[in-house]
Amino acid sequence: MARILGAGPSAWTPEQIATMAKLRDAAIADPYALDELRHLTDNIGPRLSGSPQAQQAVEYVAAELKALGAEVTLEKTSVPHWVRGVETGAVVEWKGMTPGTTQKIVLTALGGSVATPEAGITAEVVVVNNWAELKALDPATIKGKILLFNHPFDKQLAAQQGGIYAYGDGVGYRAAAPIVGGSVGAVAVLVRSVGGADYRIPHTGQTQYASGIEKIPAAAVTAEDADLLADLASQGPVKMHLTLTPQALPDAPSYNVIADWKGSEHPEQVVIVSGHLDSWDLATGAIDDGAGIVVSMQAIHLLSKLGIHPKRTVRFVAWMAEEEGSQGAATYMQEYGKDAANHIGAIESDLGAGHPDGVMWAGKPALGEWLQPVAQALDPIHAQTFQSSPETGEDINGLTEKGVPSFAPTQDSRFYFNYHHTPADTFDKVNPRELAENAAVMTVLAYALADSADPAPR
Ligand SMILES: [Zn+2]
Repeated sequence: MARILGAGPSAWTPEQIATMAKLRDAAIADPYALDELRHLTDNIGPRLSGSPQAQQAVEYVAAELKALGAEVTLEKTSVPHWVRGVETGAVVEWKGMTPGTTQKIVLTALGGSVATPEAGITAEVVVVNNWAELKALDPATIKGKILLFNHPFDKQLAAQQGGIYAYGDGVGYRAAAPIVGGSVGAVAVLVRSVGGADYRIPHTGQTQYASGIEKIPAAAVTAEDADLLADLASQGPVKMHLTLTPQALPDAPSYNVIADWKGSEHPEQVVIVSGHLDSWDLATGAIDDGAGIVVSMQAIHLLSKLGIHPKRTVRFVAWMAEEEGSQGAATYMQEYGKDAANHIGAIESDLGAGHPDGVMWAGKPALGEWLQPVAQALDPIHAQTFQSSPETGEDINGLTEKGVPSFAPTQDSRFYFNYHHTPADTFDKVNPRELAENAAVMTVLAYALADSADPAPR
């Protein structure tokens, strides 16, 4: 659907509009982002904060951007260094069991979880579907038990592009389960995986503890195993054996990779293109968030390759430790937060690599109208729908809160939460054409923000 430009003066000349089209087409044709993603995932592998692979990824991405002619700095931060151990579960006693048998429970430790004793624990399982059901229980019935929060992920909502809301609905259980469980005397907590995976695949993710409350081990079980436990527990007492041996090592030094493609007129004014470089450890972090990294790298690569020098600086940032608390973003805000006025815009891609139907933006209403020529430049790849949104990306929230216009490609998220934080978040899940479309959105938008006559309205 073609759009008619508003009557107001455009922030871009016809030559600049032509450059947007050129960058869009180059991003669609150029394999750089895909090649970089293949290396980051298949060659370097999972990039858990504090891991050798995360460090390797920092060095690799920094070297790649240096080779493009960007000015690269490593911004030092401190990150959690949690290491997964053994993780097994089985029901060992239940109504109707065949004597002498057990049934496997497929699970994975939640990020940050403390360990059980090495030999594991055996305890009865109490199942609740939500906070209200827990509140209604006599705490004495939970003491010494394993508490399962069996809150289902809304797959229907995810299938209708509402995955982020379905995720938001469930993630509170994942985050707070050990605090709530610990406060009522449970010996461990399980949560039903927050995601839509079939085929008995668990979804990990960060969990939390609170000081003054006993820290208890926490794991996610697959949707299928949550159903099994709920079914058996509805028939009578169910005992389970659970072994988790993760370790929280001392916080480790790590880095955000910052690479500036210097502005030709206002080098002090910056437009951020970004994704987060860390991933979970169960897979190679292709959609979360290798994709965000490589489409941001592509923006710098194409400016370099085509010899385009916008007025303002395009700053690539590979954020560190988004998954375990956004420590990298916090460090960036400590160092650059006072310079928010010189941050003209910030873009983060962290919702996979599905077809982008446009851009989410957070800022003043005038921004929507101002962006129309950019939307039009993205119309040929069907990425022309620009919509306001209260938030755009976890790592750029701090900048958004300081009034910096912020943006994210609006990816097709129908399948994202089937793979998110699972062992199946691998390179093959990324469609090359759709990845290229995301690269086009990042590149065109970054260029437009960096080269407009006046900075974006704020
Ligand atoms: Zn992510």
